[in-house]
Amino acid sequence: MAVQYSTPTAGKDYPKTWIEFEDWFSSDEACAAYLEQLRWPDGFRCPACGITDTPGRATRGRLICRSCRHQCSVTAGTIFDKTRTSLRVWFAAAWYITNQKQGVSALGLQRVLGLNSYQTAWAMLHRFRRAMVHPERTLLAGTVEVDEAYLALRRGTGIHHKRPGSKGHDRSHLVAIAIAVELLQPKGFGRIRLRRIQSPTRSELLPFVRENIAPGAAVHTDGSPIYVPLADEGFQHNPYVMLGSKAPAHEPLPGVHRIAALLKRWLLGTHHGAIDPKHVDGYLDEFAFRFNRRTSRSRGMLFYRLIQQSTIALPATYANIRDRHYPPSLPKSNLELSG
Ligand SMILES: [Zn+2]
Repeated sequence: MAVQYSTPTAGKDYPKTWIEFEDWFSSDEACAAYLEQLRWPDGFRCPACGITDTPGRATRGRLICRSCRHQCSVTAGTIFDKTRTSLRVWFAAAWYITNQKQGVSALGLQRVLGLNSYQTAWAMLHRFRRAMVHPERTLLAGTVEVDEAYLALRRGTGIHHKRPGSKGHDRSHLVAIAIAVELLQPKGFGRIRLRRIQSPTRSELLPFVRENIAPGAAVHTDGSPIYVPLADEGFQHNPYVMLGSKAPAHEPLPGVHRIAALLKRWLLGTHHGAIDPKHVDGYLDEFAFRFNRRTSRSRGMLFYRLIQQSTIALPATYANIRDRHYPPSLPKSNLELSG
């Protein structure tokens, strides 16, 4: 089912201000009604039999399919599924996360929401990060730089789900990531894509290019032989080749280096660099979500996108998140979320 959305409007599709936010979402019922609208813009679609029809309503917000009598809730199958946190708190968290330009740490979120447990705040952030990747994003195009970079992560501090006996404190881990960034004319950057890789090899970097960049794009690389096959796959491969010792001192791939520097600063600033290497992917997703929407005029729009994507991201339990053992792939959808 192809669904096309018009651009959402402030004050109509999402609140413009905190005052308006408090007005709109003063109860769990109001939050559930909003979720229902975002999840089923064409009307309730039964997850069991697939029929679209006005549902019957039972107590505690349960929806009943009129065809097959299946009962469900609007949060079933979303990141809000089976959590003890109320929707009001979830929504307040989403508002806060999207209104802080640099994002927020779990400790910061715990404080601002007055949550009893750090673990709850930490798991909320990770659930939202799962919603920050859209399963069918449009590919990067035009001129795109691609390269790998390394993050030195300090693990431990503040993240208290380590297994007993682990000696993780203050050990630095190098994590390799692949970066792709669109270059705009005459200057500036477009969108980015980030992915954690085991090592910068052909078997990891070529799929990264194929899955994130449209054929026909001019792909700038460091000239590594890894990228040679791209020329036969419809990409214009522009390798930057070092010209012996007379190579210019400036960076050959300014876009990639800039993104890597911003990412490192964000990890050190907002998150104090204290990230378990196994959770890097979530942080990369959040960074890309923020970067790709950095020119969004309204923070409320980001809130809207985050809640909208939360209704199509699959749920995860605390143990799923802690161990990075997720249910398989995200569901397919035809939503175009470029705003
Ligand atoms: Zn049904």
